[in-house]
Amino acid sequence: SNKKGRAMSILKEFEEKCATPDAKLKQVADAMTVEMHAGLASEGGSKLKMLISYVNNLPTGDEGGVFYALDLGGTNFRVLRVQLGRKDGGIIHQEFAEASIPPNLMVGSSEALFDYIAAELAKFVAEEEEKFHPPPGRQRELGFTFSFPIMQTSINSGTLIRWTKGFSIDDTVGKDVVVELTKAMQRQGIAMRVSALVNDTVGTLAGGRFSNKDVSIAVILGTGTNAAYVERAQAIPKWHGPLPKSGEMVINMEWGNFRSSHLPLTEYDHAMDTDSLNPGEQIFEKICSGMYLGEILRRVLLRMAEEAGIFGDEVPSKLKSSFILRTPEMSAMHHDTSSDLRVVGDKLKDILEISNTSLKTRRLVVELCNIVATRGARLAAAGVLGIVKKMGRDTPRETGPEKIVVAMDGGLYEHYTEYRKCLENTLVELLGAEMSTNIVFQHANDGSGIGAALLAASNSMYV
Ligand code: ADP
Ligand code: MG
Repeated sequence: SNKKGRAMSILKEFEEKCATPDAKLKQVADAMTVEMHAGLASEGGSKLKMLISYVNNLPTGDEGGVFYALDLGGTNFRVLRVQLGRKDGGIIHQEFAEASIPPNLMVGSSEALFDYIAAELAKFVAEEEEKFHPPPGRQRELGFTFSFPIMQTSINSGTLIRWTKGFSIDDTVGKDVVVELTKAMQRQGIAMRVSALVNDTVGTLAGGRFSNKDVSIAVILGTGTNAAYVERAQAIPKWHGPLPKSGEMVINMEWGNFRSSHLPLTEYDHAMDTDSLNPGEQIFEKICSGMYLGEILRRVLLRMAEEAGIFGDEVPSKLKSSFILRTPEMSAMHHDTSSDLRVVGDKLKDILEISNTSLKTRRLVVELCNIVATRGARLAAAGVLGIVKKMGRDTPRETGPEKIVVAMDGGLYEHYTEYRKCLENTLVELLGAEMSTNIVFQHANDGSGIGAALLAASNSMYV
């Protein structure tokens, strides 16, 4: 029928607009490299903030003692207690507690958010076993992983530039988040010093380096997306401080805010952006990361329901509800291997209250999942290529091959297998079989929290 033809033409058009042939990805990678240079040259020189992390020494493996970490990322937050063994003793002990952020606190007041976090931390500290108690006269120390753009002023201070990932609390912007956290801890009666303030990418880089000395890039694909890497301090024109002894500085790229005319954007992306809490910002994040993939899928399905009646004569009302279709559900549908696509059918029923879908419709849904995930994963790979190029490691070195290990973390990377495989295959495709053997992806599980504890250790007031 005419309607069936309409569904196919919406699909084809979407597929074409999302296409990421290698030539396009190379343009994206080159644009990323150009923006990296611009962001390092001057403050405000690029959409890429290329933030200086004040981390110029990554963990060596000699760190020791009991340290806390607090990881505020977007969806969940975690508190950790880590005991480090000194002299390559590794991580002797680690335990954590996790809680989700109540949605009302994401758009409420600064004090309410920090009070909630500090209260969870207080509960966790109260359960500390005696053997982990600090010696008399010594304060507990904490690494604070805060995965939003921060203008860092030292290793343990920095002001919030803006919220992302669905957070919007005006009175935090421009404030030092360490001061805010410290005040909230005091209100809870916890005596604890924040020794390091780190982005999750920087924490993941530190955590990855602790276990593998070849780690020099970290990428997060979770609710949002971001990357950090080790830059030569002399290649940072906007850094006017003293040159660190190591000669290196970790840069938090804030690549979620990358944008380029080469990015394949569709009408669905533009509409989602317009309706978002931060229109015009975080465009790369909005096509690659976990918060948004399911929502893009929903928007295409809604169009198909309205114009091609793929779910019957009436448009299912649930389908009109923003962010109802989440990326973990999309991932479950995409990975459905049953012959009748039972998982797809169940998800459509459970989430959208659409029953009795035909196998054809279910196949269409899987195809859309594939288009959305493939575009995101391939663009993330192009971003990694941009960093590798900036580091001058995309061509053979005279000194012989040297490995770069990319520490990867985040719920999207961890759980969305098709996405992960596509990302990894795409980098091989872009770099060529030979060069790509030098770039290795490594899942740094819990890297950001442990990394923050490690950085708290190396920046402890007692060393
Ligand atoms: P955060 O980014 O908030 O610090 P995580 O790294 O744990 O937290 O990532 C959580 C995000 O990962 C979720 O918001 C979701 O988008 C994505 N995610 C979690 N589980 C899955 C899954 N099974 N499949 C696809 N994406 C997932
Ligand atoms: Mg996180």
